[in-house]
Amino acid sequence: MMRHYDCKNYINLDCEKGMCALSKNSLPIDGDTSKACSSFRQAEKCGNCKKFINPDKYGIGTCTGLEKENWAYATCGAFACPGYKAV
Ligand code: SF4
Repeated sequence: MMRHYDCKNYINLDCEKGMCALSKNSLPIDGDTSKACSSFRQAEKCGNCKKFINPDKYGIGTCTGLEKENWAYATCGAFACPGYKAV
């Protein structure tokens, strides 16, 4: 399911909620009302980068896109990462 949390327009406010940059509405991070709308645009995250491999059940995988391989979280924001390659 696509969630607000994974959208480029989502602005994180705290550990429970954020705001939509388009509508300015307050949005929950998860739960029944966290489903994205039709304006959803996938945000750059390690989890949707070609260089992110072998994630475990917690979403912790290996980044192979930078000089040295290292562990990474799938949910980590990657908009400023020089190694990011969209899947
Ligand atoms: S999915 Fe829609 S409502 Fe949610 S953050 Fe993105 S644009 Fe805003």
